[in-house]
Amino acid sequence: MRTRITLVTISVVAAVAALPVPAAAYVRTVTSANVATWWKAPCVTMEFSLGSPPPELDASGYLSAAQNAGAAWSQASLDGVTRCSNVIFNVKSVPDAAGPVGRDGHNRLIFRQNGWCRDPAPTDPNEARCYDPSALAITSVFQLKNSGEILDTDLEVNATDFTWGDFVGHPELTGFDTHDFQGAITHEFGHVIGLDHVCYSPGAIRADGTPVPRPVDNNGNPVPNCGAADNPPSITQATMYVSVNSPSAEVELRSLSLDDVQGACDVYPFSANFVCQPPSTPSTGGGCSFSARPGYGSMACVLALLAMALVVRRRR
Ligand SMILES: [Zn+2]
Repeated sequence: MRTRITLVTISVVAAVAALPVPAAAYVRTVTSANVATWWKAPCVTMEFSLGSPPPELDASGYLSAAQNAGAAWSQASLDGVTRCSNVIFNVKSVPDAAGPVGRDGHNRLIFRQNGWCRDPAPTDPNEARCYDPSALAITSVFQLKNSGEILDTDLEVNATDFTWGDFVGHPELTGFDTHDFQGAITHEFGHVIGLDHVCYSPGAIRADGTPVPRPVDNNGNPVPNCGAADNPPSITQATMYVSVNSPSAEVELRSLSLDDVQGACDVYPFSANFVCQPPSTPSTGGGCSFSARPGYGSMACVLALLAMALVVRRRR
């Protein structure tokens, strides 16, 4: 994160001296009405149903990892010292078994260990019952279509097809079927607060089968393709980038880039007088997957804008 500050500082200088290239580029998730999503009160309590977690860590280890992921956003700081965002993640362990995904006032973090399928099952027979087995995690977001207000989120981790560990504490775990839990959760928490990917995955489709349009960043610029060879580090090193191709890149997701921080702080600027308020009413859903590419050990992630279901069609 420290080195990224240097990179963006250079961008600031360039913007002043020549081109009007803003330093920070982040992308906000938008509803089907093209309204950016946001929490009225970004105090997000995630209820973590640990169940029988993957054996690479004990329950407290997974809980700590998720809490650290939340802290990365809660402590977002542009200068490395001062909080600049009102985002507060509170990740707590709950005794409930992994529950259904839905707008029920509970933001859930769930290990799906007995099948990587939707719960509850979709009512639309055209929607897939189970998720793409290469998806590592999915964040479902319930939001008001016209105002963009986020009301509820649920994060499911694919512990059916993969196992999860701590690549920092246990680097020997790095391998195709094991992934870094904290890194992935940090990325998904970005979706929880309404941030989208900083690049575009051509071929991504919505639940209704229509293509996901190329997002624009906060400066109004269309984002580049994910995986483009000329993507700058400000894109590829963002936590909200979607593709990592090494264990170290997975670990990197844990640390917000300055652009990630800028997104959290622009959408939820810090106020000393901030008081959490309860959310309000009904919604449309959105979802995101964080996927692995078999054979590459890399991840690709696409946000599905219209439905909770995973609607990703990965490109190989
Ligand atoms: Zn994602």
